[in-house]
Amino acid sequence: MVRIAEIAPGSIAEALELEIGSRIVRINGELVRDGIDFRFLEAESLLELEVHSPATGSTTIYEIEKDAGEPLGVRPAPDPVRECANKCVFCFVDGNPEGVRRTLYLRDDDFRLSFTYGSYVTLTNLGPRGFQRLIDQRLSPLYVSVHATEPDVRMRLLGVPRGGEIVEQLRMLAAAGIEVHTQVVLCPGWNDGVHLDRTIEDLWAIGARVLSLSVVPVGLTRYNLNRPVRLLEPEEARAAIAQVDRARERSLAERGVGWAYAADELFLLAGMGVPDAAYYDDWPLTENGVGAVRRLLDECEAGLPHAPRLDGRRIAIVTGTRMARVLEPLSGRLGAATGARVDVVGVENRLFGPTVTTAGLLAGRDIAAELAARAAYDAVLLPAEALNDDERFIDDLPFAELTRQLAPTRVAAGHELIGTLSAL
Ligand code: SF4
Repeated sequence: MVRIAEIAPGSIAEALELEIGSRIVRINGELVRDGIDFRFLEAESLLELEVHSPATGSTTIYEIEKDAGEPLGVRPAPDPVRECANKCVFCFVDGNPEGVRRTLYLRDDDFRLSFTYGSYVTLTNLGPRGFQRLIDQRLSPLYVSVHATEPDVRMRLLGVPRGGEIVEQLRMLAAAGIEVHTQVVLCPGWNDGVHLDRTIEDLWAIGARVLSLSVVPVGLTRYNLNRPVRLLEPEEARAAIAQVDRARERSLAERGVGWAYAADELFLLAGMGVPDAAYYDDWPLTENGVGAVRRLLDECEAGLPHAPRLDGRRIAIVTGTRMARVLEPLSGRLGAATGARVDVVGVENRLFGPTVTTAGLLAGRDIAAELAARAAYDAVLLPAEALNDDERFIDDLPFAELTRQLAPTRVAAGHELIGTLSAL
């Protein structure tokens, strides 16, 4: 059953006087297991809705006639997250220190989050009924962490016997019309080299329902570095990019899209610039770190003629250490366009250790410490990806608290530079 979290004004649910906190138990006799079941079942035009009220202990049946697809106006409470059954050798949860946001300790592997938010799942915690549900409800596209298609290689990486069934599972989903974006987290000595080539071949052979393959370098912190996986060396990153490029050539010739993509981090690790926009087709994976850097650079370039005048002001653009090297060349041009003195400030990640260089994992306290060691700025731009929906950094420091500490400096967080400068 699902709990009603919100009721939209003017909706059918409001007209029926459904109450927040009540449980929707069945629709048309079918048990409502979670929010996806609810969305699937509410689409019918004739509904028999069984609702239980914990407040009164009563159960009421509502008969509803509406247009097919018309929503009832109920927002279900979030479902409990399905946890993973794996013991991945590179698990990011093992790389967490104490004291980070609680949600970062959760080992989730939930196909519902994959369908709804595009998080990657391994499919190892799904039995035959789970797969049948994906097919019956046409939960497509899904995002699947493949890592390797050779059964023994994938089993070693994921630490579970069921990890070896991925090719059959993807074939079954493809045959049922379910599309998937796939991902490889590249671990040197585990799934790179010939194993990556084999993975590329196997995924390509499944057919066009495999929409993409992105190759991401493993990320490790001071807490799980070399236990047992190590980081990629730059030349290993370049070799992987060359393998991806070979897959792209074939795909561009045969399917007209790149299909295989090296993640932004792989290019940065290789010491290469990120490719032009054409590499990313219609940007299917920007949220997953494939194309986000190119998009940021291009948006900045396009926005320069519209940059606000900030004459004489001192502005800091805060980012991770690796991204700082990418943004550094822009500081002079931003300064010329705005009249400000613009510094790119690469903040070392003391919370996770220096191997973690991405802006999204910057702790609020590390940012505060770095800025406190520098001359005062009039304004500071922060990467919005370092904040969660509750406006907290990964170390749980609220954005409002950092802003208070930096006062009277103005602080703004954004996903792109020119718009955020304009908001200062
Ligand atoms: S799937 Fe692997 S990496 Fe993800 S939470 Fe589970 S063990 Fe960790």
